[in-house]
Amino acid sequence: MAKTNLTGAEEVVWDLSDLYNSSDDPLLEKDLSESTKQAEDFASSYRGRVGALDVPELVKLLQAYESIFELSGKAGTFAFLNWSTNTEDPARGALLQRLHEHSSQLQQKLLFFELEWAHVEDGRAQTLMSDPVLAHYRFWLTLARRYRPHLRSEAEEKILAEKSVTGRSAWVRFFEEVHSGARYTLEGEELPQQSVLTKLYEPDRTQRQRAAEAFTAGLQNMRRVNTYVFNNLLAEKASDDRLRSYPTWISARNLANQIDDATVQALVQAVTGRYAIVARFYNLKKELLGLEELFDYDRYAPLPTANRRYRWQEAKQMVLDAYSSFHPEMGEIAESFFQKNWIDAAVRPGKRGGAYSHGAVPSVHPYIFMNFEGTPRHVMTLAHEMGHGVHQYLSREQGILSADTPLTTAETASVFGEMLVFQKLISAEKDAQIRLSMLVQKIEDTFATVFRQTAMNRFEEAIHEARRAEGELTTDRFNELWMKTQKEMFEGSVTLTDSYGVWWSYIPHFIHSPGYVYAYAFGELLVLALYARYQESAASFPAAYRDMLAAGGSNWPEELVRPLGVDLKDRTFWDKGLGMIEEFVEQAEDMAKVQ
Ligand SMILES: [Zn+2]
Repeated sequence: MAKTNLTGAEEVVWDLSDLYNSSDDPLLEKDLSESTKQAEDFASSYRGRVGALDVPELVKLLQAYESIFELSGKAGTFAFLNWSTNTEDPARGALLQRLHEHSSQLQQKLLFFELEWAHVEDGRAQTLMSDPVLAHYRFWLTLARRYRPHLRSEAEEKILAEKSVTGRSAWVRFFEEVHSGARYTLEGEELPQQSVLTKLYEPDRTQRQRAAEAFTAGLQNMRRVNTYVFNNLLAEKASDDRLRSYPTWISARNLANQIDDATVQALVQAVTGRYAIVARFYNLKKELLGLEELFDYDRYAPLPTANRRYRWQEAKQMVLDAYSSFHPEMGEIAESFFQKNWIDAAVRPGKRGGAYSHGAVPSVHPYIFMNFEGTPRHVMTLAHEMGHGVHQYLSREQGILSADTPLTTAETASVFGEMLVFQKLISAEKDAQIRLSMLVQKIEDTFATVFRQTAMNRFEEAIHEARRAEGELTTDRFNELWMKTQKEMFEGSVTLTDSYGVWWSYIPHFIHSPGYVYAYAFGELLVLALYARYQESAASFPAAYRDMLAAGGSNWPEELVRPLGVDLKDRTFWDKGLGMIEEFVEQAEDMAKVQ
């Protein structure tokens, strides 16, 4: 590596000794065999008896349950972290594989408990859960029973589970294999999906247009397969919802997300009601790019920008300043990550890509993994993962069963952290041109999660409902519903070419997790609205926010955010977040005028 490329992150390597000293640490083997032994004892003491336990026995059971997950979680965390920094080392890969197998064996031994608990009759469960001794576990016990009205008998569940391997899961895998194997012909070259889609970010318009045409042609070739797979999975979902008595296509997803149907509806209505923001932004982008008309393949065209670079020390200081000026304790926690070597940021051979914050287990502390190369995006990644890290650190007090949050609120702390750091970053930037492109980038990222995902949710609802009402759908019918729901969003700004009609057919979320996409919009908009509340009440907000993080997943999301003055069912709350996006667009318009 050339000296000029050094960022100072080359020495930033984590210290895993709070977990184990090495992969040969005898303590690791001891924890593994101990967790197996405890799981066996657990099964022999409680299998078939869960419904008959009294409160003290149930407390004992839950403590034993937590202890098993602590032990195996600690070993599993070490194996994963250790592998992440050198995926080419076969010994590390083997340890990770061993831990996967260990964990799935434990799960098989323990599975009976949650099933038996869900089958305990309501009155009896309520009496047990209302006992103050069980207060710490009450919410988890409630959550574990939430599928009860939708579970079928044990014999039926067994058949459903066995048949799903060659049913739903088989179709999902088929779809994934078809798309990962697909090649798109571009200027004589055969390219995989990702390489073609990346070309939509090219500054040269002809290149973008050709990439879009190549992608369309490839999807056209696969249309019969895609249409068939979509139809099958839509029908499968319809019968699953009927067998399990879910009122709508999205109800099962909402239950998993710990959110009710009305809240999701309020979110969707608020976003679709403000599609005018999309038009306003793309009209500005059209001007900035100097184009007469903006087509679908122009959406990701970059603005001319200088290559700003940050050293590790600058990034670290920026993140620490942002977190400590928001809340001193959160600043101190962030400081620990740097001082105590809980971060691995050095780029080195064999290290896997991407970034994450791993919560480890409550008895230890989280670790942050990333590859720092000094771009503005890497600074935001550090800000993002630090948000997860601080959240995970604070919520350790909830214990291993209740520390984690559902999908809907899992990204709150990380995206909020990004907002804090973004504000520092942009105000520290002296070059007006770079400031503008930073802001435009931020707006586009926000659009991708808020508006794009909500429009996709509208499409998804349309196809689920159409499949239920009309029977098998043709490719043209899918195209029509896709164009309708996309045009609603791009009204008055982006011209959609006819060939864009088939672009629904590669999006994997529709296939592997029906109903998933709104969670992105939910998370992003929740953060923007929380940030707006922070600006309104800068004195009292940070303390309430800190407490929300510390509560982890110990209550319904709706209840967790209530002390912050937030009512998730209220459309005007979601409007606050949308108002923030509009403010960003306004700022960008003002900056563009000065240039
Ligand atoms: Zn994240």
